[in-house]
Amino acid sequence: MPVHLPVGQLLELAEQFGTPLYVYHADRIAHQYDKLKKAFESVDARLYYACKALSNIHILSFIRKLGASLDCVSIYEVKLGLMAGFAADDILFTPNCVDIEEIKEAKALGVRINIDNISILEQFGHEFGDSYPVCIRINPHILAGGNMKISTGHVDSKFGISIHQLRHIERVVKSMHINVKGLHMHTGSEIKDIDVFLMGLDVMLDMATHFPNLEYIDMGSGFKVPYQPGETETDVQTLGKMVAERMQAFQQETGRKLQVCFEPGKYLVSQSGYFLVKTNVVKQTPSTVFVGVNSGFNHLIRPMFYDAYHQIENISNPKGTKRIYTVVGNICETDTFAWDRSLPEVREGDILAFYNAGAYGFEMSSRFNSRPRPAEVMVNKKEVTLIRKRETIEDLLSNQML
Ligand SMILES: *Cc1c(COP(=O)(O)O)cnc(C)c1O
Repeated sequence: MPVHLPVGQLLELAEQFGTPLYVYHADRIAHQYDKLKKAFESVDARLYYACKALSNIHILSFIRKLGASLDCVSIYEVKLGLMAGFAADDILFTPNCVDIEEIKEAKALGVRINIDNISILEQFGHEFGDSYPVCIRINPHILAGGNMKISTGHVDSKFGISIHQLRHIERVVKSMHINVKGLHMHTGSEIKDIDVFLMGLDVMLDMATHFPNLEYIDMGSGFKVPYQPGETETDVQTLGKMVAERMQAFQQETGRKLQVCFEPGKYLVSQSGYFLVKTNVVKQTPSTVFVGVNSGFNHLIRPMFYDAYHQIENISNPKGTKRIYTVVGNICETDTFAWDRSLPEVREGDILAFYNAGAYGFEMSSRFNSRPRPAEVMVNKKEVTLIRKRETIEDLLSNQML
């Protein structure tokens, strides 16, 4: 299968649907899913797609049909998941700092609940006792991830209940007869080193001995995919083997068999996505040549928010002579997509493609500067589907009292 959509097809899609435009290549999502599935085939594994990466309902349905379950971080994601056809039992609700009301709403919908705060655990136990199983999110205090903003397992993080509070968790669980079926951790994003996952697994298996009803351990995600040329992805194949070994050893030592879950977001959808923009202006200044495109951090914020690198191609002039550019948006803020980027000569009107735009692209977009959000298109084999209309002035006004 082709790794990327051909440049010519991207150009056609830009012409057909206009720009700025998000394009998702479904076959690539399937390819990534298969890789993970194969990597963990010798373990009792379950894959939850972390839908905060990309939650268009067509993408959710597509991923459901691949066989995945769904990880949701808000009650609205839970509702989208149900609308996309996921069974309630195939949805794990992993919120952070929500109140008990939102947890109760999720319970009423019948989904799996992941609790990440002792106060909520107490409130839940008080109200429901052992009548509804829960998963508990542990903070294992492992520092990992591409940068501090996307690290969630360290000691200063707001996520999870500290492993040092195990005694307290046990007290609450015991006194309120809470049925703990799962333990969860998620230490961050873009973790290349598989030892981080294995260290985490050891911590979780250690904790598992304290919870006799436990059925699964959820290792979260953080699988890395390449963004820059020369980068490589997390070696899930080797990780799968090592996880299988450890789970077997655990079973032999304890006589207990646990399921292992993962929650890939980026790994499934990042590379499937292309963000297409049009060059509005080429602007020579004393220090550089700016390429000003018809978008900004209102549509793709990762470069500004995380200093993320996105590969950019000039798909209108792929064979042009290379020049050095600073690629910026049209927002009244400094919204630099890329500095000192060598691109085939960019002319006004040229279409640029941002790669790896599937995860946290559209999903983090806004209407800043009162600019509508882009359209989204899905390419599944030969089939091209508009899966979200481009917003208009009516959408900007839709909830305002006129
Ligand atoms: C964001 C998130 C994920 C997905 O992380 P990726 O780096 O996109 O794979 C998984 N689990 C939880 C709980 C998350 O918050």
